Amino acid sequence: MNMNIKIWQSCLMCSLGILSMFNVNGQSQTEKVLLAGAAQTIITPPIGYSINGGMRDRATTNVHDETHAKGIVIDNGENQLAFVISDLCMVYRETLDKAKKRAHELTGIPVENMMMSATHTHSSGTACNVFQSTPDPAYLEFLSIKIGDAVARAYENRVPAMIGWGFGSEPTQVFNRRWMLKEGYTNTNPFGGQDKVQMNPGVNNPNKTVPSGPVDPEVSVVSIKSLDGDQIALLANYSLHYVGNTGAGMISADYYGAFAERMTQLLDVDDQDIPFVGIMSNGTSGNINNVDYSGKAYKKTGGAYSQINFVANTVAAEVYKVMQFIDYQDWISLDSEQDEISLGVRRPEPHEIERAKKILAKAEGPVLKSREEIYANETMAMKDYPAQVPLIMQAFRLGDLAIAAIPCEVFVEIGLQLKEENPFEDMFTISLANGYNGYLPTPEQHALGGYETWRAKSSYLEVNASVKITDKIMELLKRLD
Ligand SMILES: [Zn+2]
Repeated sequence: MNMNIKIWQSCLMCSLGILSMFNVNGQSQTEKVLLAGAAQTIITPPIGYSINGGMRDRATTNVHDETHAKGIVIDNGENQLAFVISDLCMVYRETLDKAKKRAHELTGIPVENMMMSATHTHSSGTACNVFQSTPDPAYLEFLSIKIGDAVARAYENRVPAMIGWGFGSEPTQVFNRRWMLKEGYTNTNPFGGQDKVQMNPGVNNPNKTVPSGPVDPEVSVVSIKSLDGDQIALLANYSLHYVGNTGAGMISADYYGAFAERMTQLLDVDDQDIPFVGIMSNGTSGNINNVDYSGKAYKKTGGAYSQINFVANTVAAEVYKVMQFIDYQDWISLDSEQDEISLGVRRPEPHEIERAKKILAKAEGPVLKSREEIYANETMAMKDYPAQVPLIMQAFRLGDLAIAAIPCEVFVEIGLQLKEENPFEDMFTISLANGYNGYLPTPEQHALGGYETWRAKSSYLEVNASVKITDKIMELLKRLD
């Protein structure tokens, strides 16, 4: 009789999980084992703290639901990957670099194997100076600790695990928010130029024709379970900017948080030994929102959060459906590729700076109100930006699944192109990752103008940035293939 006794040894020194098999005649052999862990840390700011996401700053008055940094660590004995998705609108690279350094010191995982992103909830603590919201250095320090801790705690939570993924479609909650204007019609932008498209034009706008681009209805789902069957984590990805309509001054994780809550109910994971971490990451949603300006949208009837819950429940239902058909593997290869690229900044010309100065001289402060004033202020900020900025580009391979990460609010066309042309059959992109470099429209969308192209701290990369970024991501994915 050849009875095997399996002993899982967790060795802190080597930090690799190894499943040893000792058989009765004393011979031993090692077998590959996959370990995974997940954890979430609370990153909710204090009452009174600045909220990111609007053109004017808002102050926190209360908390609807806590905001989190949600971490997953996957370890196959040869390599370890860490992903942290935080309930923030956007987050500086410097903050995340500090978090990665802390996580590396606590776990030994190489920083290049870590992806850290923001969900893009517009009702969280300010972690980036955008428009008139400015972060407090103390909150940024707190974030770097808590985001780093999400990796360290997920690492400590590792248990033998299995992983699988699948894809669904939820076309009812995504709409391209940039509409073409009728031939001969343009809108004057805050710089005095003319735009051929309008963001959020309004249902009854007689001058709009059709959306200026596509949507990506795909819902990607990575599911991680313990070998005992407990649901460790779920990493979903959907190309929707955010939902919004949270109460004034309220902190909320938006539909990203409500999705996790709904998945907890659907999966019935409340009384597991292992705490479940449900994550919705932001796909390529720079020009995608939840409002149907063709007038056929679900009409929200409830108060604040009703649309958030509706979207969360709709997407969660699709994710739950996908999960019924996932094939799990108890070991997969893990790889990562990271490169830094340098991109040009659209800095203002001298005559644009002069125009901005004149507008600001007439403005009544301290809070700027008109779009002209707000963008004049942005122009003054952009004149001090460097001519070139460095960006982290990443690609990961989890078995036959590829994940790319880009530090921008990526337009949907770019995500669709990457899904279409990359060498892997299964692939998705996480936006707002590893730093923040503003909107990423295509050159064609730049030519049409509109809010997302207006030069600001939230939109400043060179017009060809998307071409260079797509080329680099494709190169990284080919290296992984
Ligand atoms: Zn945005």
